[in-house]
Parts: sequence; C-alpha cells; structure tokens
Amino acid sequence: DSVFAHLVRAPEDPILGVTVAYNKDPSPIKLNLGVGAYRTEEGKPLVLNVVRQAEQQLVNDRSRVKEYLPIVGLAEYNKLSAKLILGADSPAIQENRVTTVQCLSGTGSLRVGGEFLARHYHQLTIYIPLPTWGNHPKIFTLAGLSVKTYRYYDPATRGLDFQGLLEDLGSAPSGAIVLLHACAHNPTGVDPTIQQWEQIRQLMRSKALLPFFDSAYQGFASGSLDADAQPVRMFVGDGGECLVAQSYAKNMGLYGERVGALSIVCKSADVASRVESQLKLVIRPMYSSPPIHGASIVAAILKDRNLYTEWTIELKAMADRIISMRQQLFDALRARGTPGDWSHIIKQIGMFTFTGLNSEQVAFMTREYHIYMTSDGRISMAGLSSRTVPHLADAIHAAVT
Ligand code: PLP
Repeated sequence: DSVFAHLVRAPEDPILGVTVAYNKDPSPIKLNLGVGAYRTEEGKPLVLNVVRQAEQQLVNDRSRVKEYLPIVGLAEYNKLSAKLILGADSPAIQENRVTTVQCLSGTGSLRVGGEFLARHYHQLTIYIPLPTWGNHPKIFTLAGLSVKTYRYYDPATRGLDFQGLLEDLGSAPSGAIVLLHACAHNPTGVDPTIQQWEQIRQLMRSKALLPFFDSAYQGFASGSLDADAQPVRMFVGDGGECLVAQSYAKNMGLYGERVGALSIVCKSADVASRVESQLKLVIRPMYSSPPIHGASIVAAILKDRNLYTEWTIELKAMADRIISMRQQLFDALRARGTPGDWSHIIKQIGMFTFTGLNSEQVAFMTREYHIYMTSDGRISMAGLSSRTVPHLADAIHAAVT
C-alpha cells in the first residue's frame, strides 16, 4: 500500500476552482468571471506591446547570460520598483532608507515580508480587512503571524465600513501589523477616500501600528500609476516605517512570470541595510534567488522613457476598458428595470465588482446561465466584454427577481 494512502483529497482553491469548473462546462455561452486576469474585448489574454518589445530587446542582446541572480534579485529592477511605488523624488529613497528585494510576484513578496516580521518584529499579530483576498490569511498564518481581522466592508451600503475600521484599528494592541490594500481592494472594489486614508494614517501612527501595503493593482485602478500609489506615499511621507509588497502581474500583464518586490521603508540607511541582510536569510533557504526573465522585462520598460510612456498608455487602456464595462453593466441592469440599487457597480474600483449577490444566486446563475464566479458574488470586470454584458445582465435580473 502507498505510504500516502491515508491522504484525504483537498478541496480545490476557492478562486482557482472556479476556472476548473468552467473548463468542464461544454456550453457555448459559458462565461468565466472568476479569473483575476485581464481579458481583451474579444475575451483573450493580453500580452502588452511594451512587454513584447522589451522581450525582443532581451533576446537580441547576446551579452545576456542565464547566471543566478543575487539572493535579493536584480539590483536595477529593485531600485526602479521602489521608485515606481514611492515616487521618483521620494526622500526615503534619496536617504537610502528603503531596502527592496525582488520576490515571486505579490504572493511571494507578502510571504517573505510575513516571515521577516515573524522572526524580527516584536508584535506577531497582523490585522487584515474583512473580507480580503482569500490567500492573505493563509500566507500570514504560515509565515508565523497570528491573523486577526478589522471591519472593512458594509454589506448594507456596499461601501466602506469606515466607523468599524476606525474602531477595530483603534482597539488593536500597540505595534500590531495592519495589512492595507494600496488600491482597488480585492474582493470588494471599495477603497477609502484620500481624506479617510489620512485619518487611518493618523490613527495608525498614533498607536504605532505597522503598515504592510499590498499593492497588486498600481495603475490598474484609476489608470494612473501616481494616483494609485497615493495612499502608500502618504504613509512614507510622514517619515514612519512600513512594508510594501508590489506585483507586476496585473499592471504589466506578467502573471505567469511571477515578478514582484518587497520594500521595507526604515528610519535610517543603517537599519535598512541590516534589514536587507536579514531578508537574505529568509530568502536563501526558501528558493535561493528569484527568476531573471520577468524582472529583466520590467527593468527594461521602467528605465526606458519611450517604453515607460507606452506602458502607461497601454495600462490606462486596460483600466478604461474595465471602467467602461462597469458603466455598460450598470446601464444594462437599469434598462431591464432590475430591482435594487446597482450604483455600486460604477462606484467600486479596480478589477472586481462585489455584486452583493448571495451564494444561492451565484449557484443559480452558474446552473441556468453558465456564468462562473466566486460564491461571494465577486465578478471580474476584466472578464466581461460588450458582447457578454447582456447575458450577464439577463442572469443577474433572473437571479434577483
Ligand atoms: N494581493 C491581492 C489583493 C491580489 O488580488 C493578488 C492577486 O490576485 C495578489 C496579491 C498576488 O498576486 P500575484 O502573486 O499573482 O502577484
């Protein structure tokens, strides 16, 4: 008998499992709104033009080799990534108070940051928003932190529960870590306003809570890289410390290249360099060093003025298509006279809409309309097109009437 005979089958990942179910459905009208990846108006995955150009440059450069990167990754990439999120003129960068390490996309950056904190920070409790991306509690628990939640979303308004958020962070123990979605909160699409961010900042600094930003959608939310980085820059601008996990999965469409970065903003250059030395000890036994290809693409784009400009145009086009899908879905529900207030569809931001549909309604839409989404009613706006909006609107209408 197998030494593994006692194993029970593990459940599918709740998000990736949606695609597994979708793939099994033979219906020609099936629609996958579970994936967190951009699709074109034709429903196809997109490789950005600038990415193609950068890859061509890399291929043509015969001096490039496939040697190992250092433990912390590509130095040039790390510098450019810190600049992208903190701003080119960031005093923290100029004062060498930021240490940045290349990690395996957003997930890997969160995991390395979590393990570093579990080893070296005095407070092991991390507060994550309720709800949040399903992987967050697992990443931080396995990193060795103790996970608690703070109120974030109010189902009644389908908006931010700002009072609840302030109360929960206000009663958190001094020094606790707080995970913040930098923009385009997943799964709710609900972000604090800049005024609310300022109140959150003041509260957190007054209680010495440590901010850990998850920036998976910079530029993807509003279409502007700077606007989407504003909350992070407010926290760095006050001179305090924080961690930032960046991902290029969505904003450069580099999902499978697994390219991200963890930056830790410190109070002095001396501390930052000791932090970096300890990050190496976290990374080395985990995967030794990160992959070279994706980081080389990103560095080629970020350092070249023309490629950078072209990237911002392509990024804005993706963001704009998503915003237009919101409007079209909202208009289609209105045209059908679908009961309820659907204005949250156009108010929410980023890749997802938190529809407010419950799990029975979701199951109904999958069964009767072959529309696939997570059971919490989250739909990926990036998976929609002008052609499929009417089908989705029909399904929502039928589900709620
Ligand atoms: N954080 C959030 C909030 C996300 O939505 C995602 C992706 O869905 C990630 C992090 C990490 O993605 P990746 O590891 O592909 O960069």
